[in-house]
Amino acid sequence: MDNPPRAMAKVSCACGQVAFEAIGAPITSVICYCDDCQEGARQIQSLPHAASVQEPDGGTEYLVYRKDRVTCLRGASLLKTLKLREESATNRVIAVCCHSAMLVNFDDAKHWVDLYRSRCTNDVLPVQMRICTKFKPDGETIPIDVPSSSSYPKSLIVKLILAKMAMLLQR
Ligand SMILES: [Zn+2]
Ligand SMILES: [Zn+2]
Repeated sequence: MDNPPRAMAKVSCACGQVAFEAIGAPITSVICYCDDCQEGARQIQSLPHAASVQEPDGGTEYLVYRKDRVTCLRGASLLKTLKLREESATNRVIAVCCHSAMLVNFDDAKHWVDLYRSRCTNDVLPVQMRICTKFKPDGETIPIDVPSSSSYPKSLIVKLILAKMAMLLQR
């Protein structure tokens, strides 16, 4: 029997000049309500012609991938990073052609990147958790469709640690 095709996320900017591909299943899929994700979304959405990044309730959806699984297929020269604070290790990576938010990566040793689900052209994994809900905008109610946590839940930390171990074992 043939092996089934490997899961793959495809991420493209709105105009199509920039594309990423992520091989295999994501570590997880989250909606984050933290202050930084909300501020990042606001700054990106204020750029000319930018597509929306946030959900109406203030959450931002991400596919969390091992960084060794994510490749830029085209348009790398059109990428620009946005830092909310100069000293921050966190970069929001934007395609300057159409101001699409592509992914979040880190200057430090973090072993994952967060792809913006809003730019993902195929559905690879349903949302698994809502995180950092203590920062949700006033008046918003967090849906109870998936588990949610006021900060970073243990289940997320465990998934990230397991992914790191798999990386070290080169699996
Ligand atoms: Zn573009
Ligand atoms: Zn966040």
